[in-house]
Amino acid sequence: MKTVAVIGGGITGLSTMYYLSQKMKEENIEARLVLIEKNPYLGGKMHTEYEKGYTMETGADSIVARYPGVLDLVRELEYETELVYNETGISYIHTNNELHAIPAGSTFGIPMSVESLMASTLLSEEGKMRVLQDADIPNTQFTKESSIGEFLEYFLGEEIVHKQIAPVLAGVYSGNLYELSLNSTLPYLVDYKNEYGSIMKGFEANREKFERSANKKFISFKNGLSGLINRIEEKLIGVAEIFKNLKTTSINKIQEGYEVVFANGEMLRADVVVMALPNSAVKTLIKDEELDFYLQKFTNASAITMYLGFDIPDSILPEDGTGFIVSHNSNLICNASTWTSRKWKHTSTGNLLVRLFYKSNNPKYEELIQMTDEELTNIARNDIQRSLNIEEKPVVVKVTKWINAMPRYDLAHNEALQELLSQFDKKYPNLFIAGCSYFGVGIGACIDNGKTTAEKTIHVLK
Ligand SMILES: Cc1cc2nc3c(=O)[nH]c(=O)nc-3n(C[C@H](O)[C@H](O)[C@H](O)COP(=O)(O)OP(=O)(O)OC[C@H]3O[C@@H](n4cnc5c(N)ncnc54)[C@H](O)[C@@H]3O)c2cc1C
Repeated sequence: MKTVAVIGGGITGLSTMYYLSQKMKEENIEARLVLIEKNPYLGGKMHTEYEKGYTMETGADSIVARYPGVLDLVRELEYETELVYNETGISYIHTNNELHAIPAGSTFGIPMSVESLMASTLLSEEGKMRVLQDADIPNTQFTKESSIGEFLEYFLGEEIVHKQIAPVLAGVYSGNLYELSLNSTLPYLVDYKNEYGSIMKGFEANREKFERSANKKFISFKNGLSGLINRIEEKLIGVAEIFKNLKTTSINKIQEGYEVVFANGEMLRADVVVMALPNSAVKTLIKDEELDFYLQKFTNASAITMYLGFDIPDSILPEDGTGFIVSHNSNLICNASTWTSRKWKHTSTGNLLVRLFYKSNNPKYEELIQMTDEELTNIARNDIQRSLNIEEKPVVVKVTKWINAMPRYDLAHNEALQELLSQFDKKYPNLFIAGCSYFGVGIGACIDNGKTTAEKTIHVLK
């Protein structure tokens, strides 16, 4: 019987295993399935912690509901009854030391109608007029491979990009807009421009789609994202052997397949190995200088995230507000803040829970990363005091540092990925890479990638 080893028990590794086991059942294929995870828990960047009635995520906090396949998986797992959706409300941008609402009717800060544009308190009159010129500028040079920052600035002008769009988009895609391609962010913007003559007209023509998805855009579960992870784990009982607390230290090619070596000195021989691991881990497992050349092309950003829970009701928050992003000319140090207890009702019993993000593009990041948790808490308390006027001491604090753990999808990503895949094909048959470093950073993309990886594995087993 053949052995399949999946290294890494994050959502990519788990969905690979889940879809693999389903396909094997359907097609009556037998194989030994082994999942190896270095942490004492599964989930990787999807991991929930609970303290004093607060539900806090160490990494991701939600999943884009409309990503194809996400809700199908939840249904297949018979887990719909645990679903929770975000509360929608107003997001703010903190600039000139005040909170300004991101206008209703905008997507990632891009106005979808003239009314939305005119309602902005972030833009000058000239800035608004410049956005309207988009309708008179033809697209002769931009494709989906172009930088989204250059594309938006060319058609909508510098002011709206800097003041209203960049803070939102850079927050979502952890990177510099001018180094991110349209393909890896919002590829449909090029289609809108080409088809409808202006980006805004494209949005207007597709308004229904955006209005539909404006409500209930994101999902989580009553017990947080670990709920989904635990559910997949349950479904794998008796189907796959799962080893936690077991670090893989190397993968060596042998005559027939691969030898997977663990930190405890044990080994596993496998016919197919899936590395559902961050790029940094893949680099350490395969000793191959030629491959290193390709692997080092994938780079990562970092972030510190902090939760502060207060013994005060969250009705103290601005009405309907769900959080803010920090833009230029702000006296805050954080990059963004989510008013978690407002946005996600399951995370608290009504008391205020706030999450703050400090990213590696933050001018103070190098200082912040050296600080103790206590010093970081003081920084966070200052930011909360300045943005919300709350002086109280938090009753819960949770600090998580994600160092070099957030893949950056820059303009060279697709080409680097194709080169890397062809190296693997040539030199390492049946050793697959998978996961957020390569095939998309969102959880939806990771689930989808798990499905594709399972199909590749089935092909080998057949
Ligand atoms: C702060 C933060 C916020 C985010 N917010 C969102 C969000 O709201 N929505 C969203 O869709 N996405 C979000 N993301 C991105 C998303 O969480 C990740 O892209 C996704 O969870 C990655 O899954 P993965 O399985 O590919 O990788 P990982 O979750 O990194 O899993 C890899 C696993 O491999 C294990 N491992 C590593 N080395 C070894 C080894 N040598 N041996 C054995 N095991 C090993 C790790 O412990 C880990 O469990 C966020 C990410 C971060 C960091």
